[in-house]
Amino acid sequence: MGEQLVKVNNLKKLFPIKKGLLGKTESYVKAVDGLSFEIYNGECFGLVGESGCGKSTTGRMLLKLIEPTEGEICFEGKDIVKMSQEEMRMKRKDIQMIFQDPYASLNPRMTVGEIIAEPLKVHTKLGKEERAKRIYELLEMVGLSGYHANRYAHEFSGGQRQRIGIARALAAEPKLIIADEPVSALDVSIQSQVLNLLQDLKEEFNLTYVFIAHDLSVVEHISDRVGVMYLGRIVEIADKDTLYSDPSHPYTKALLSAVPVADPRAKKERIILEGDVPSPVNPPSGCSFHTRCRNCMEICKKERPVLKKIGPSHEVACHLY
Ligand code: SF4
Repeated sequence: MGEQLVKVNNLKKLFPIKKGLLGKTESYVKAVDGLSFEIYNGECFGLVGESGCGKSTTGRMLLKLIEPTEGEICFEGKDIVKMSQEEMRMKRKDIQMIFQDPYASLNPRMTVGEIIAEPLKVHTKLGKEERAKRIYELLEMVGLSGYHANRYAHEFSGGQRQRIGIARALAAEPKLIIADEPVSALDVSIQSQVLNLLQDLKEEFNLTYVFIAHDLSVVEHISDRVGVMYLGRIVEIADKDTLYSDPSHPYTKALLSAVPVADPRAKKERIILEGDVPSPVNPPSGCSFHTRCRNCMEICKKERPVLKKIGPSHEVACHLY
């Protein structure tokens, strides 16, 4: 494992729900409710959970696109939550994002060259010619061609647009890339091509990713470690091999049981998750998974389990351990 790049400590985000003409705060959505984890240089950290678990809010807080309500995000030892706007503007060079929707995230009025030039203008001192050369290199790097620079985003397919989004994210040579469901809006046939590209780029340039996904199968090949989120909290965190071969939290087991396996003879018990994810406005007491857990005990309804180390790189928040 490389050196620690990011340390997140007790991160919380509450979104107020306002009511009435005066907009009085009535309650809060607990989108992220006390997350702590680390990200190491050169790794891909997968963050996985069902829709509404707080994973995208977490990704946006790492970039300070959303201000946390509480907690610390130390990037190379400095807490970005406390940084001024000016300090954060400089830091953005080091932390870039690849968005879920390649259709909405590229400005339709700009050519591809102009889109990729933006971060180069803001974060580098490259002159016009050097910039054009770099744009050409970046397009080739993501499997497009230099001549694509003069075209507009709408002339490209979804997969190609996501490649443009990746080129833009790489332009300023960031230290950390947050990829928020980067393949979920793409056709299944294109998903693996974009995943392979991200994997190849990671290896070639020793990139560090936070890869956000709703499905454990998507992050299986690319991730080095995986954190599983449920209702704003991490319930299990482990290196990839441990998580996929020996999942411990009942929620992780249920998610993994739904992942199809290549060998039709391999027997696997499918665990059906009953009911929907409860509302993050009023999450269940104790272990927030207890309303859907088939191992639920009395203590689970009363006491919130904390993350406990159960192996060298394996932590789980469950009263069974
Ligand atoms: Fe299930 Fe209890 Fe573990 Fe929560 S703490 S996952 S309810 S066994």
